[in-house]
Amino acid sequence: MDRDTRPTPVSRTADTARSDLSGAPRSARRGPRKPSTSSLPLLTILETVDLGFTPEEESFRLEVQSWLQSNLPKDWRQDGKGGYRDEEDTELQREWQRKLYEGGWLKLGWPKEVGGRGATPVIQAIYQEEVARAGAPGILGRLGVTLLAPTLVAHGTDWQKETYVEKILSAEQIFCQGFSEPDAGSDLAGLRTRAERRNGKWILNGQKTWSSGAHYSDKSFLLARTDPAAEPHRGIGFFLVDMRQPGVEVRRIKQMTGGGEFSEIFLSGAEVEDRDLVGRPDDGWKIAMTVFGFERGGLAQAARFERAVEELATLARDRGAGADPSTRQRIAQARIEAHVFRLIGLRNLTRAQHGHAPGPEASLTKLYWSEMDKRLQETAVGVEGMYGALAPHSVLAIEDGRWQYGWMWAQAETIYAGSSEIQRNIIAERVLGLARGR
Ligand SMILES: Cc1cc2nc3c(=O)[nH]c(=O)nc-3n(C[C@H](O)[C@H](O)[C@H](O)COP(=O)(O)OP(=O)(O)OC[C@H]3O[C@@H](n4cnc5c(N)ncnc54)[C@H](O)[C@@H]3O)c2cc1C
Repeated sequence: MDRDTRPTPVSRTADTARSDLSGAPRSARRGPRKPSTSSLPLLTILETVDLGFTPEEESFRLEVQSWLQSNLPKDWRQDGKGGYRDEEDTELQREWQRKLYEGGWLKLGWPKEVGGRGATPVIQAIYQEEVARAGAPGILGRLGVTLLAPTLVAHGTDWQKETYVEKILSAEQIFCQGFSEPDAGSDLAGLRTRAERRNGKWILNGQKTWSSGAHYSDKSFLLARTDPAAEPHRGIGFFLVDMRQPGVEVRRIKQMTGGGEFSEIFLSGAEVEDRDLVGRPDDGWKIAMTVFGFERGGLAQAARFERAVEELATLARDRGAGADPSTRQRIAQARIEAHVFRLIGLRNLTRAQHGHAPGPEASLTKLYWSEMDKRLQETAVGVEGMYGALAPHSVLAIEDGRWQYGWMWAQAETIYAGSSEIQRNIIAERVLGLARGR
């Protein structure tokens, strides 16, 4: 849910950000290295980013592969042939999250002092890439695990950390995110949900929307206005709200995929105890910025797109569409774009490994992969010809309609986590240094 309000890294001006476009500095991270056993194109970009893996990193990769081999059942894997609908597999995703938690993987990047493995960005990327390559399902509490738990470690009270963090990671408690409202999406500061102090509690009234997984969530982390007289970015609180109370009503929104992954949340007199307010009553905006800082993509997505391109090529061969020059060109273009995306991921990883926080160039990554996926899915639907018009569940749909489903889902990718227009604004203003449009 990254918006134009993404925090600008304080140490970087538009000028320094612009220089990032010409490539990251050559790495001095490690000495000579042995050739990678992964599919990384080592020689092509050795001059600009740090690509090789140390023996320790390669042995970590083997550790992940072997753990997945023993713990990820074959029929849980996404085989790329459709029939797999993330949103319908809640119990499987809960179970998978538990396994990852028990395996110690969900705290990989956390500092050792808080029970993590203190893994470097490269180690974390290797883990994510291997999980994606294995076709592992998603985890049910992904928003809690990736966004809320690290935010609580940074801003929560001892009680909040003790009460929630392990439960979030182990899938005992599932949280959804209640930020967006009907009139506050890209412009999140326009949110109007009110939180008032009454009889020693916070009473919440208002409406949230597009809240992923709200229908199966136990709690939500939610922004509400504590001081309506304050400026838009101030007077906002960050609350942990019990979703199973009388003042909360969840209405699922039907999507064009046929699923109902997200919901509206109606708050009418919902109650929150003081202990479930994170930070001070006017810290919400600052804490929301921390949340956005944990939204990242990476090599896992690169692995996902590379797989998708291979599957697209297979589809074209199977359908006899490979002889058509324009189809061949589109598939080749998709392969090139997936490869470029891997290189972008590696450049970001090099920066992270050198201790640089992700800056506005993260918008380039988001814009690139979401627009690329739309093109890829569209090519696949085109390759299917008339069959591409069938609904995913139709008996005649090719590969169980996975490409039609993917095409429909891809339309959402250029909206959530900051729409393409918002990303272009950020790139224009903060990377290219152009004047603000408004
Ligand atoms: C699949 C999915 C899951 C989501 N999950 C969650 C969730 O769990 N929790 C949650 O809180 N929210 C969630 N969202 C909401 C998401 O964050 C918002 O959809 C997003 O922030 C855009 O807001 P909006 O939909 O209100 O569109 P708007 O902000 O109203 O934008 C409408 C159009 O105007 C354009 N636009 C807006 N402002 C500008 C500008 N300044 N310059 C140029 N163009 C502009 C946008 O790009 C867009 O095309 C989810 C959305 C999707 C699609």
